[in-house]
Amino acid sequence: MKVAVFSTEKYDRQFLEAANTATNANHEFIFHETRLEAKTATLAAECSAICVFVNDDVGAETLKILADQGIGLVALRCTGFNNVDLETAAEVGIKVVRVTAYSPYSVAEFAVGMMMMLNRKLYRAYNRVREDNFSLNGLLGFDLHSRTVGIIGTGKIGIILAQILHGFGCHLLAYDPYPNPKFEEIGNARYVDLPELLASSDIISLHCPLTPENHHLINAETIAQMKPGVMLINTSRGQLIDTKAAIEGIKSGIIAYLGIDVYEQEKNLFFKDLSDTIIQDDTFLLLQSFPNVLITSHQAFFTKEAMDDIASTTISSITDFEQGNSLKNEVISCPVASVL
Ligand code: NAD
Repeated sequence: MKVAVFSTEKYDRQFLEAANTATNANHEFIFHETRLEAKTATLAAECSAICVFVNDDVGAETLKILADQGIGLVALRCTGFNNVDLETAAEVGIKVVRVTAYSPYSVAEFAVGMMMMLNRKLYRAYNRVREDNFSLNGLLGFDLHSRTVGIIGTGKIGIILAQILHGFGCHLLAYDPYPNPKFEEIGNARYVDLPELLASSDIISLHCPLTPENHHLINAETIAQMKPGVMLINTSRGQLIDTKAAIEGIKSGIIAYLGIDVYEQEKNLFFKDLSDTIIQDDTFLLLQSFPNVLITSHQAFFTKEAMDDIASTTISSITDFEQGNSLKNEVISCPVASVL
């Protein structure tokens, strides 16, 4: 099948081509570096499917252009599908598939890395030693042992994070509207409501999808309920946090550490080398200026194991579509609790 791949980086091409060869799928990929949006959708002309990533715009306008060109499948090479208008996709007859599961260790381990980096100020220590500054002033951290970590969302990633933090000797709290029995089987772990999690946690880590209900879940009101000095980690989706409210939380000292792998306006920044340009996003620049903020550009998933899983699942979904088989990773539009 001829597939237009958008937002392609060198590594996407490498993993997709390897999985295509390994499975003898023989799909023909047309790789585009550009993001998919309404004005780039015609690049998919003559293809039957497209393959996209987290910041491609698969909104109503784009989908209608794709449908007019005969595209029948949108294959997301990620788990989240907040960038797809599922209702319109159903209306215009385009199927949507995603990678429902890939190494959850990639993201959970990265979240722990962010916690350690912020707590022990490894980013500052690394730079200091390179400049022959061996002072420890300003590098004081705290033991993770016996600290309370609040996990929001205990699906595949949240559970692995809980298991890793159990090894550190942390007390674990979680909030999830659909509790996972595996969580309370971990020692020192219990479900609580959101206000209790916010008030009792030394570290809060977000592991839920972005939905219409939890857009700006972390806002001025919820930040005010947090323990002063809290560490907030977000490896899920940028729009879970009202960034301006987080900045106020940092200024007031409630948030003493912020680690974000995702950012509300990341589609204008992330995955690009902008080192020769002037960044126009003042909110981002302000965040960058704080010494207790760690920002990475949506890289938590980026391990060899996760990339192998993503590529092989994507290839097999495209093959199933081509052969008219049922699509196990199909994302269905749900009018009641649609996911953004
Ligand atoms: P999952 O579907 O296995 O688990 C999500 C959990 O969140 C579920 O248990 C669900 O009940 C819960 N949930 C839903 N709404 C909630 C809410 N309002 N409050 C609390 N919990 C809620 O998903 P997963 O594989 O664990 O991934 C979690 C999220 O991580 C994804 O949705 C995606 O946004 C993000 N992610 C980020 C990266 C990255 O590279 N940074 C990579 C993969 C996934």
